[in-house]
Amino acid sequence: MENIIVAKFGGSSLADANQFEKVKNIVESNGDRKYIVPSAPGKRHSKDYKITDLLYLCSTHVEQGISFDDVFKIISDRYKEIVYDLSAKHEHMKNLDINKYLLKIKNDIEAGCSSDYTASRGEYLNAIILSNLLNYDFVDASELICFDKYGKLNTEYTQKSIVKKLSTVKKAVIPGFYGSDTASKIKTFSRGGSDITGALIARGTNANLYENWTDVSGFLMADPRIIKDPMPIETITYRELRELSYMGATVLHEDSVFPVREAGIPINIKNTNSPNDKGTLIVGDTNPIEKCGTITGIAGKKDFTVIAIEKTLMNTELGFCRKLLSILESNNVVFENMPSGIDTVSLVIPDSQLDNKLETIIDEINRQCKPDSLEILPNMALIATVGRGMPKSRGIAAKIFEALGKNNVNIRMINQGSSEINIIIGVENDDFEKAINSIYDTFFK
Ligand code: ASP
Repeated sequence: MENIIVAKFGGSSLADANQFEKVKNIVESNGDRKYIVPSAPGKRHSKDYKITDLLYLCSTHVEQGISFDDVFKIISDRYKEIVYDLSAKHEHMKNLDINKYLLKIKNDIEAGCSSDYTASRGEYLNAIILSNLLNYDFVDASELICFDKYGKLNTEYTQKSIVKKLSTVKKAVIPGFYGSDTASKIKTFSRGGSDITGALIARGTNANLYENWTDVSGFLMADPRIIKDPMPIETITYRELRELSYMGATVLHEDSVFPVREAGIPINIKNTNSPNDKGTLIVGDTNPIEKCGTITGIAGKKDFTVIAIEKTLMNTELGFCRKLLSILESNNVVFENMPSGIDTVSLVIPDSQLDNKLETIIDEINRQCKPDSLEILPNMALIATVGRGMPKSRGIAAKIFEALGKNNVNIRMINQGSSEINIIIGVENDDFEKAINSIYDTFFK
């Protein structure tokens, strides 16, 4: 059977001609890279613009009846510069008339096209350029990615379209981020959605691997703003990734994991600027662990309030937790975590959910649940230590608690989910960085 790699390149990987050259080299260094999914040009430096942001800006200008010429000029200039620079090295790029495409898009925006259509043109143009550069076919995502009449992705129809269309196209560039709805109108995913396009193409083509090329060499074991030079994660399972990203670690669009996870296709996060780095390989959940007794990563979030409730014989009282949770529900408050003991239960609530509702919630809990005691712990942070090796190795929790104790971090709450690959501890916001450092050091120094 033939090998297929689907490679998605993010915005910073295609921000200028120099980055396009790197992408070309990467694609050509492995003939299995048959389907390529580009994002729109991203930032070249920290003060630069992302093309998608500028396209959305054009839309708002039109909506407000303001001229969008100046913004569109910045967009056009960027694409023209990319094509011009590439033409200097690649003769065949001189045949690409990018002005023709830019003019059509400008006319469409003027004529009042939807903001989804406008935003999608960033990926569209990048795919046109890249397909020319690579001599790959261009296949429009509007023919492959299908949304239903409610604007939701129609996975079945998308799968069928990809199988049908791409079985006859050996090598293609497919723009990320968008598809079309039942009325053939362009519809985009949420921001960062090219990751999802790549995953869908990987599943549809039954790829062996989904490569996601970005500007970092994969995931790190901890946030580099807190830990200096944290070690990279070489292999992580989908479940661990889910736990870590839920706790604040971000690299991939959340929805992009599901299509490939279902199909058992691994994802390799790679760095366009350092292609020889291994990056991080995301694999199926049953994958064996090479290193027992260690953890995969640490992540965390600040700013929670914990409501700790105690009531003797809580465990025999019918409907106690239901009452508690319905109070949150009627106040429209989502909770994050609910660790419990025999006579105790705590509600961990993000502060962003609470705005001014805390007093009402406390009153209602006192009235309806009649606890023996109720304590409020404000300014709390949650830290998750994640590792699929945890259920099989002894002493991981002990190591974490010892490290925190030694460093004088007061643990206010402990919760090990039933998945057993995640130990969550609650500490005060002020201890957040110190706690993460202590845990990291105890495993890796
Ligand atoms: N260009 C789009 C964005 O900036 C989609 C993507 O990059 O994945 O959100």
